[in-house]
Amino acid sequence: MNIKTASFYTLGCKLNFSETSTIARDLENEGFAKVDFETGADIYVINTCSVTDQADKKCRNIVRKALKYNPKAFVIVIGCYAQLKPNEITKIEGVSLVLGAQEKFNIKNYLKNGFENQETILRNEPIKNVKTFYPGFSLGDRTRSFFKVQDGCNYFCSFCTIPLARGKSRSGSVSETVAKAKEIGRSEIKEVVLTGVNIGDFGNGTNENFHQLIQKLDSVNGISRFRISSIEPDLLNNDIINFVSHSNKFTPHFHIPLQSGSDNLLKKMRRRYDTKLYEKRIKLIKGLMPNACIGVDVIVGFPGETEDEFNKTIDFLKSLPISYLHVFTYSERANTTAPRMDNLIPMEERRKRSKQLRILSLKLKLKFYNSNIGNINNVLLETHEDDFLIGFTENYVKVKIPFKEGILNTIQKVRIDSVNSSIEAFGTIST
Ligand code: SF4
Repeated sequence: MNIKTASFYTLGCKLNFSETSTIARDLENEGFAKVDFETGADIYVINTCSVTDQADKKCRNIVRKALKYNPKAFVIVIGCYAQLKPNEITKIEGVSLVLGAQEKFNIKNYLKNGFENQETILRNEPIKNVKTFYPGFSLGDRTRSFFKVQDGCNYFCSFCTIPLARGKSRSGSVSETVAKAKEIGRSEIKEVVLTGVNIGDFGNGTNENFHQLIQKLDSVNGISRFRISSIEPDLLNNDIINFVSHSNKFTPHFHIPLQSGSDNLLKKMRRRYDTKLYEKRIKLIKGLMPNACIGVDVIVGFPGETEDEFNKTIDFLKSLPISYLHVFTYSERANTTAPRMDNLIPMEERRKRSKQLRILSLKLKLKFYNSNIGNINNVLLETHEDDFLIGFTENYVKVKIPFKEGILNTIQKVRIDSVNSSIEAFGTIST
């Protein structure tokens, strides 16, 4: 029998990774054999991202690569870029099928009548009609899974196109989500990262919420630990923080978008909190979990960000006990309101500010890593490189320990002994 082959390529975020993995398993269940990209598959699925300025270029490059490996391949493009600008994609030579946010989970239906390369087919439901939630999780990496528990966003921040690409906030029920987690618990996976667009909004429109979800997940067998990927400060309430502080499985690691340390800019961004609330959240976390790792997203160069306001952001960040930053240089997005605001910041200035914050991030990380020296922590050993095994502590310190046979993909008690100037932590197993 001639088995058909499929290969997958993911651009963008963890959510896309979990969705590609789910779609790949669906196709495997339909009888497709998953093969490496370079093997020359019968069909290629490219899951795109719209966050980057270069979505178009990247997508075009990957289509070209796929066709290099099999000039007759049936190339399917899905993801945020396919929802936002499907017509641009149909113009890329060699694309056979473009599927929007709703249709991407039904690829198999589009393959039922064969997949000969004819004219490009485009199926793209307007985003306001996209209401179904498709859960999913990534498998493949033996130790860690990205588990999609929520999709879409109702916030409409003035710089963001995600609601236009992914639609309204939606999720499954607590019991459906726990049932999926149990499936992951039956695999080799040890750590699960809860992902979504706005995961704190889990249960929106129902009488359930994120706090209830994590309470139930905490007792799922077979999963050693959970991380919360990123959560909006207004939704990271005291109940959630308190629960994580005494949970068996939820790690003391938070990623909380700040975006700006200026309340004026937060308003313009249409964020739903001010710096006072943000500070309160951080203080509660550190009060209950002094060792917690806290990552912070910041946008630099938003319209109207004066020198003074940028300095406010720096001062605010320096005043907080945080561990690292993810810095984003603001760039204009079509169909958002921010580009129409006054006082756009020149690109050169945006880059300069971005560099300044990246340097601050390294300093914060070094300080946080150093503060962990001498601590004994549970480390999930995920990879083997040269003479080392590498893994993360519960509070997200990446540690290298001398190689030892038979302990990859296990959790070990490790003492952090040193941190070098490249911010690499080294440890030893503590008996
Ligand atoms: S909360 Fe996040 S995903 Fe939602 S609109 Fe704002 S930036 Fe975009």
